[in-house]
Amino acid sequence: MLSLEMEASRLVKSTYVKQGLQSLQQRKKLLQNLLIHKNLPPVGLDDAVIEFILSELASMDSNNFSSNSGVGEREGRVFSSLVARRHYYFSHGIGRSGDIAEVQPKAAGSSIMYKLTRELVGHALHISGFSPALIKDVPLVLPLATGMSLSLCLIALKNQHPEAEYVIWPRIDQKSCFKSIQTAGLKPLVVENKLSTEDGSMRTDVSAVRALMEFHGNRVLCVLSTTSCFAPRQPDLVDEIAKLCQDFNVGHVINNAYGVQCPIIVKLINRAVAVGRVDAIVQSTDKNFMVPVGGAIVTSPASTGFLKELSALYPGRASAAPIMDIFVTLLSMGEEGYKGLLDTRLKLLESFKARLTDFATSHGEVVLASPSNSISIGISLRTLDALQENQGETNSVNRTTFFGSMLFQRNISGCRVVSKSTKVTTINNCTFIGWGSHSNVYPTSYFTAACSIGLTAGEIDTFLSRLEKSFAKVIV
Ligand SMILES: *Cc1c(COP(=O)(O)O)cnc(C)c1O
Repeated sequence: MLSLEMEASRLVKSTYVKQGLQSLQQRKKLLQNLLIHKNLPPVGLDDAVIEFILSELASMDSNNFSSNSGVGEREGRVFSSLVARRHYYFSHGIGRSGDIAEVQPKAAGSSIMYKLTRELVGHALHISGFSPALIKDVPLVLPLATGMSLSLCLIALKNQHPEAEYVIWPRIDQKSCFKSIQTAGLKPLVVENKLSTEDGSMRTDVSAVRALMEFHGNRVLCVLSTTSCFAPRQPDLVDEIAKLCQDFNVGHVINNAYGVQCPIIVKLINRAVAVGRVDAIVQSTDKNFMVPVGGAIVTSPASTGFLKELSALYPGRASAAPIMDIFVTLLSMGEEGYKGLLDTRLKLLESFKARLTDFATSHGEVVLASPSNSISIGISLRTLDALQENQGETNSVNRTTFFGSMLFQRNISGCRVVSKSTKVTTINNCTFIGWGSHSNVYPTSYFTAACSIGLTAGEIDTFLSRLEKSFAKVIV
């Protein structure tokens, strides 16, 4: 360093050189801190610093060694400079053929990035409230979205219990959840949700889960429960399910697709881990951390050794792209930025819910009871059901469907309109009535809207104004 300063001072005034080198030193220090503490930086790093960190790491991969002469079949060669730049000159991916978490000898930089990413994700989960028991085993970040990651977890469990073939599945009407069971070569045992006679809210039928365990004995591999879901379904009672799984020696995988942002769900999961059996918890990277689709995070209580088995199951290397997305994002958010996003969501949730309640009341509708679901909000569409019935309209001019398409045409995305229906839907040879409503017998049509991380007050304003206009049109 000293000689660099001397040499540079021959070209440029030495005080300027000193200052410049100090700044360079500072950047190196940030990378050093990252390697030492393996935590989100207290405040987000700016893009130039992040690019510096990526460039330092990429320089440690053999494809970027200036003297490298690769004579193997996988040398990280990249034809297009656009592609090379898109990946910040990383090209070896992650893992080795035998284990996705193993260090790749040709790619020290990529391997460091992967390990750091897992640590940063662990820290982010800690900030979200995950208990130490759940992050002691550093979370596995998979370059597979939630559904495929769930399948992989189920296959890992199946390897432990080859004789078991059933997965008990409290119904959640999202096809990928259901399909993840069959992709793993297992058979679903569907448990209908229970509707409360008091307030109509929907929750896990725990005694039905228990009855299936009793009936099928050791042919039950696990329960696949779900926390984050569309209202009026509530998060599954994962604590009670965990207790049953412990008592019956049955596995338990929790689909926590977008639950990391929700303190109620995180608390529920912590309790499940404390009181019973949980083998794995799977969460989406895009839905929780605002990155493009492509990854999932698997956490598991340290005592189970499950993550080791899971990473060793992955056949081959994998793309580092979803890993880099989350690495860059967490560095860019920093602790302060991430906490801010979580807080903002909670604040917006209050006002969003209040304004939707106003909307409902002013139109003779109600907010559907779903007390422990604090992400998705459901509003009845009884007015449309009544119009449909009174006017003897057929399903081909279904008002609720029409309402849904009006919103869609007004560039409202993510608002789901669910028609009350007795229609039968078949998915992989299983039939469901009223698919989309989580129930065979849900009594009204409704729509849902979600208050999820990154939503802005402006988007809520726009949504509510277009909602009012569309509703006014659909009831004439
Ligand atoms: C989004 C979602 C999935 C599927 O996730 P992918 O990332 O698309 O595989 C599964 N279950 C629930 C509850 C979800 O919200």
